[in-house]
Amino acid sequence: MKQDVIIVGAGLAGLSAAVYLHRQGRKVLVLEASERAGGRIKTDSHEGFLLDRGFQVLLTAYPETQALLNYRDLKLQKMLPGATVLYDGGRFEIADPFRRPSAAFATLFAPVGTLKDKLNTLWLKNKLQKLTIKEIFEQPEQTTRKQLADYGFSPKMIQRFYAPFLSGIFLENELSTSRRMFDFVMKMFSDGDVAVPALGMEEIPKQLVAMLPEDSFQYNTKVTAIDGNKVTTADGTVLEANQILLATTANNLTQKFFPKQKMNSHQVTNIYFEANEAPTKKAVVILNASITKKWVNNLTVMSNVSKAYAPKGKVLISVSYNGIPTVDDATLAENMKQELKKWYGEKVTSWKMLKAYRIEYALPSQESVKNEINASEIKISDSLFICGDHLLNGSINAALKTGRLAAETMKL
Ligand SMILES: Cc1cc2nc3c(=O)[nH]c(=O)nc-3n(C[C@H](O)[C@H](O)[C@H](O)COP(=O)(O)OP(=O)(O)OC[C@H]3O[C@@H](n4cnc5c(N)ncnc54)[C@H](O)[C@@H]3O)c2cc1C
Repeated sequence: MKQDVIIVGAGLAGLSAAVYLHRQGRKVLVLEASERAGGRIKTDSHEGFLLDRGFQVLLTAYPETQALLNYRDLKLQKMLPGATVLYDGGRFEIADPFRRPSAAFATLFAPVGTLKDKLNTLWLKNKLQKLTIKEIFEQPEQTTRKQLADYGFSPKMIQRFYAPFLSGIFLENELSTSRRMFDFVMKMFSDGDVAVPALGMEEIPKQLVAMLPEDSFQYNTKVTAIDGNKVTTADGTVLEANQILLATTANNLTQKFFPKQKMNSHQVTNIYFEANEAPTKKAVVILNASITKKWVNNLTVMSNVSKAYAPKGKVLISVSYNGIPTVDDATLAENMKQELKKWYGEKVTSWKMLKAYRIEYALPSQESVKNEINASEIKISDSLFICGDHLLNGSINAALKTGRLAAETMKL
């Protein structure tokens, strides 16, 4: 039987396209290689803990999530604006004084940079609030590191705050990511909240799956070839459709039809620890700004953000390392604990590693990014279309946007 639309890949981009196509009255069949939907956004249940596959957050100011998701049903749990910073002299707090006045005083005296740096941060917030997202992505490209210097931030401010903060978002340590992405992310931080759904990040794709008829999905179905209006799956089945949408990660399949795409990716390794006592009571991201840092970029006590992440009486700590280390998981976990002892003392010794995630493809490389795309880039042929974060930038917002734009382009 000929299908109406076949979507290859049930990540956020494929799901967004499926929802928008369904709203147009189209019949979609989503073929997904893995056992469930969500792509890079998945949450595993493990010994009573909820483990997101890599530390991820939703920025509630994203226009595409505002348009598509029901935030109330996700039961979003907010993180505190700002961060705790670990440095060689101890630790300090940095907060947005407008959104967290209680911490403003601490921020003012934090050993993070000069008074000019702090005023500069407020100036930047003001500037980005006035710029539209479109204007942000029209600015000239240059690296975030260069842009921070051009904005007038001191090397100390960059080393003690922006570098550890941004490397946890961009998943690269050089800050070679486009300044457009820096400005965009900072605008999103200042215009909204940082949150996770109470039951884990996978609640986001689950909500999209629930908007579609049950028979829209075929899991454990890897597409191996596309030829004209036909897709072939790993078991040799050939399916025909009026239109096909490629919604996979940038991989060999997409490369064949879209050679100009960037295949490079940023990688991250995430270790989850269980503990009886939390190193902090705050729902805040903790950054490592030590000049000798090696194994820990950032950590968050996930059970402080949402209690459901850990069973009663236990604490869940997520620690991230940028890249994929050559040491094994147990050694990495020990190295992380060793590094954190400097701030949290011997208590760290009792943390128990629960699970490690080595994520080879976390974000597409982002030296050059955009937020708009023409129909001609989405339409590969009369019957083949493409979407996915790699077309714009590595974010939940971009993945959903490319799915929506693909659905609009595919309108018959
Ligand atoms: C650790 C980590 C942290 C992140 N942090 C954030 C964050 O804090 N905020 C934010 O906005 N974004 C973050 N992101 C980025 C965000 O998760 C992604 O941009 C988004 O999920 C990408 O969605 P996608 O649909 O484009 O791709 P994917 O999620 O990669 O979906 C592609 C799907 O295609 C399937 N597939 C691949 N090949 C085939 C095939 N041959 N046949 C069938 N199916 C196939 C895959 O199994 C997958 O399900 C993070 C990502 C990671 C991994």
